[in-house]
Amino acid sequence: MATIKSFEVQGIVVSSVDYKESSKILKVFTRELGIVSVMARGAKRAKSKMQNLTSIFTLANFTLNRSKDFFYLEDGVILDLNIHLREDIKNIYAAQLCLELVNRSVVENEPQRDIFDLLAKTIRFLGISPNKHRLISMFLIKYISLMGYRPRLAQCVICSKKDMEKKGFSIEYGGICCIDHQIPYRYLEKNEYNYLLYLLYQRIDEVDDLDIVKINVDEKKINSMLLDFAQTKLEINRLMVFKAYQNFV
Ligand SMILES: [Zn+2]
Repeated sequence: MATIKSFEVQGIVVSSVDYKESSKILKVFTRELGIVSVMARGAKRAKSKMQNLTSIFTLANFTLNRSKDFFYLEDGVILDLNIHLREDIKNIYAAQLCLELVNRSVVENEPQRDIFDLLAKTIRFLGISPNKHRLISMFLIKYISLMGYRPRLAQCVICSKKDMEKKGFSIEYGGICCIDHQIPYRYLEKNEYNYLLYLLYQRIDEVDDLDIVKINVDEKKINSMLLDFAQTKLEINRLMVFKAYQNFV
């Protein structure tokens, strides 16, 4: 019999479901392998040290081994339980939104380091930043871009005109447009347009640097537009956490 080789990966548990009497099947977004399915045998047992390791939101170094198409969890070292996500309902729904979006649009078993880093950073900052909508909007616009649908914000998606006096945002065409092209669009005030640029180009750790009083943007409105944009481009019917997120965050 061939020896089973174990190896270590860093990952975040994005979903966890019970399997038979004592086990769990996890989806883990790993930095090295992308999203993988992992069997955690014995993880449901009351005193199992695997309990925390296999909870949703946990960031850890996981020791896995592979047999055919399945990964098995051997052991792990918890790096961050992301406790802040478990104590605040707003954080839970905001984090679940990111995880569900990733889980439903990233192809399994393909490494996606940039997306992993973006997700890990966003989740960490949910515990730091009071600006939840802005943080999630930053995540959304960057995530859509990494998935190949970076919104075109420099010129009209139809006629390539720059510096239009009045701008709309076309979800269908994926960017800004003049308002007289007979296509559906959301009207963008000048400050809302600048805010979109900010979300796209600033780093996640700069999320709290914006003086929102000065720019006076309805952040919830833009957040909702970006959510529609993400779901449309990624062809996701409706996120399960969508309603809870809209009601509580
Ligand atoms: Zn145009």
